[in-house]
Amino acid sequence: MYDDIPSVTLPSGKEVPALGLGTWNMGENRSSAPQEIESIRKAIDLGMTLIDTAEMYADGRSEEVVGTAIAGRRDDVFLVSKVYPWNASDKGTVEACERSLARLGTDHIDLYLLHWRGEHPLTETVAAFERLKSDGKIGDWGVSNFDTDDMEELFAVPDGKNCAANQVLYNLSRRGPEFSLLPWCQERGVPLMAYSPIEQGRILKNHELIRIAKAYQATPAQLALAFLLERDGVIAIPKSASASRVEENRGATDLEITDEDWTALDAAFPVPTRKTALEML
Ligand code: NDP
Repeated sequence: MYDDIPSVTLPSGKEVPALGLGTWNMGENRSSAPQEIESIRKAIDLGMTLIDTAEMYADGRSEEVVGTAIAGRRDDVFLVSKVYPWNASDKGTVEACERSLARLGTDHIDLYLLHWRGEHPLTETVAAFERLKSDGKIGDWGVSNFDTDDMEELFAVPDGKNCAANQVLYNLSRRGPEFSLLPWCQERGVPLMAYSPIEQGRILKNHELIRIAKAYQATPAQLALAFLLERDGVIAIPKSASASRVEENRGATDLEITDEDWTALDAAFPVPTRKTALEML
């Protein structure tokens, strides 16, 4: 048994788990699909019911794998997908969404994100998102890879304030968002979804992370995720195609870290002292 996963409230009032599952790189190989499906189902079983995918991932095959994994249990899942910036025109957004729905085998996406900023005006993309929302094809919409100035711009367009989340690169080794973006989002009640929350595995070799994790009989991945779960309005979406690692990541909710150890982690992974441009992977 694990401690409950903390929840994050979207501007609509909907509650979602602060720990979900990413699916980038799933769907790349047909032979890996059974393992990927097993890990998605394991995540759902363990309450990590927010599943993140995108039309980009494996050219839509990640969405197909997700669709297979959630078949028969759609209502247990909070489904997030993303539109390519070059598809995010008035008409293109709706068409891309229809294609994603077909691949996912569902009639609605819970949260539909603009993957990153592109050539189409935000006004157009937002209008298309709002139409998809009125048609019941999406529950909410949001953005991804938006820095503070992008969010300001978004909030200035008609209905831009309806943005339900911003998904960005945020983890112990990428603490730039803490300087201004995270407080900006927290003040306005816009959840920040932290992608690559364990830096695709690269931070797990950090000696200080390993040392502190060991003191709690935890793994470095669990501690890296606990760091994100500690923050208000932050949702972490670690990807794993291994059911046992999904289970390991789920255990992040059970860590109670002392102030002294948080301070030690801050020293090992400092917050930038000035505004830096939002990083992207
Ligand atoms: P993560 O930080 O989630 O790391 C994933 C990698 O770490 C995989 O190689 C995985 O391998 C491995 N891993 C997972 N758990 C553990 C563990 N406990 N111990 C050791 N290794 C582990 O990186 P991602 O870039 O995948 O980010 C997460 C999700 O965020 C993506 O899958 C995607 O959904 C989203 N994303 C969004 C972006 C955007 O622009 N909006 C950009 C990048 C990601 P294995 O699968 O073999 O377990």
